Amino acid sequence: MSEDLKGAILQRDKKTYAIVPRTPAGVLSIENLEAITLVVKKYNIPITKITSGHRLALVGIAKEDIDAVWSDLNIGIGRATELCLHYVQACPGTAVCSFGVQDSLGLGMELEQIFAEKTLPAKFKIGVSGCQFCCGESFVRDIGLVGKKNGWKMIFGGNSGKKPRIGDVVAEDLSKDEVIRIIDSCLAYYLENAKKKERASRFLDRIGVEEFKKAIL
Ligand code: SF4
Repeated sequence: MSEDLKGAILQRDKKTYAIVPRTPAGVLSIENLEAITLVVKKYNIPITKITSGHRLALVGIAKEDIDAVWSDLNIGIGRATELCLHYVQACPGTAVCSFGVQDSLGLGMELEQIFAEKTLPAKFKIGVSGCQFCCGESFVRDIGLVGKKNGWKMIFGGNSGKKPRIGDVVAEDLSKDEVIRIIDSCLAYYLENAKKKERASRFLDRIGVEEFKKAIL
């Protein structure tokens, strides 16, 4: 992928591309939905797929159509390959779900606005859940948040990939402002001390949970 292709990723057919519009916490407006329907029809995009990060991948776009698709979509570029925060996924939480005890959707959208595209040593994902059922996959994301009655539990170093790792709880009973401050601190420490392409899970294994907590709290 290169910048002149605006976030487009070459597919295994070596001819067509996929793009991922930026849809914070997986929330789509009516305008977004209309624009997506329009481009799928207009450019004969064969696959529209919901991703694990609560985003939509538009797959099978001809190279010459990429600029026009973005222009018609009028939605930002969702990052998918760069070394930065790719997405924040969030369950509906108190906005909708009867089990919710915290506003995971509101926090997820706010975190996306603050930290999206922040340059980091490796790709990075955040998962926010409005209660301990953890539908936001908080224990297998680089940073996870779980809503409890007394506030947010923060988890660091989860990963669901080739070497899965359950993240470690690094702080509890946090207010929203404390969550934002500690994430900022986690990301600054990670940026300064991790090797290039070292995911948060491997970084935490190398540094040690107690050392990490001392540095970020
Ligand atoms: S984690 Fe809790 S609040 Fe969120 S969707 Fe699941 S059950 Fe509902």
